Amino acid sequence: MIEVERLEKTYGFARALRGISFSVQNGEVLGFLGPNGAGKSTTMKILTGYLLPTGGRASVDGLDVVERSLEVRRRIGYLPESTPLYADMRVDDYLRFCAEIRGVPRSRRKAQVARAVERCRLERVTGKNIVELSKGYKQRVGLAQAIVHEPPVLILDEPTSGLDPNQIVEVRKLIAELGEQHTVILSTHYLQEVEKSCTRVVIVHQGEIVADGTQQQLVAQQPSGGVLLTVRGPEQAVLSQLRELLPADVPVAVTARDGDRVHYRVAVDRQNAPVDEALARLVVKNGWDLLELRREAATLEDVFRNLTLRAQQEAVGA
Ligand code: ADP
Ligand code: MG
Repeated sequence: MIEVERLEKTYGFARALRGISFSVQNGEVLGFLGPNGAGKSTTMKILTGYLLPTGGRASVDGLDVVERSLEVRRRIGYLPESTPLYADMRVDDYLRFCAEIRGVPRSRRKAQVARAVERCRLERVTGKNIVELSKGYKQRVGLAQAIVHEPPVLILDEPTSGLDPNQIVEVRKLIAELGEQHTVILSTHYLQEVEKSCTRVVIVHQGEIVADGTQQQLVAQQPSGGVLLTVRGPEQAVLSQLRELLPADVPVAVTARDGDRVHYRVAVDRQNAPVDEALARLVVKNGWDLLELRREAATLEDVFRNLTLRAQQEAVGA
């Protein structure tokens, strides 16, 4: 449904996008992640025809976003980062206006506005001016305008940022519902949002794609948080032996005690992979009981931090 090929965008001398490529299949809900300044909004603005790329190409439903901009816009519902709502318009007038400018035939406008109002639960505020609404309601109006022309694709740029926790829950619920009927690209800083509602994740960092896959794939490729070890044996001796075995910069900690079993966490990552075997041998060699040894599961947050922090540190020579 969406194809992005070697897309580049330069603002003056700043290269915001350095040739990114990804695609989104029909029905997918793609989580588009990245630190501030990574290039998420720039990509979204190009897809929706609000910005021209300086290189590469993108298409929606087979239509080039530059050459067929008007047709592309009719197929996309877009919620920009800062929602430019017409504040002094009534909610219902605004939605009718949006339906009209996006080419909804007059005969269908009323029904489609009613449907958007219903799906975004705006019934109580249709007669109000947008300026009077809370931020949560404004965001729902933003979503309603994005769906009013019933586009197959939704592009939502940080739809929950700046909302309070109750509003976030409401808007997330709504996005999950919309995800069932639309192909969605959703940018967000809330990783739980992605874990809950996205079928795939793309992580962009400094204008380049650093990860693309399902959460399970990304998590499986990443260094985990550490080794969890349960040993029956004298705690102090175990600790000192572990510390002797491991490099000085690998923290070892007791995480829990459960009778004579002690749970340790060794904060290595996958780069020290052979350590698992070495740990097991050490415990057995000392005649202690090795009750459990396993890798801590990585989370999407680990993936995100590993891919975006490490590269940042490398860039500054840290
Ligand atoms: P994100 O949405 O991931 O936070 P953006 O796409 O907004 O990132 O920005 C990517 C990069 O492009 C940033 O370094 C940003 O400063 C720069 N940038 C964005 N918009 C402009 C602009 N209008 N003029 C100059 N630089 C811009
Ligand atoms: Mg942005």
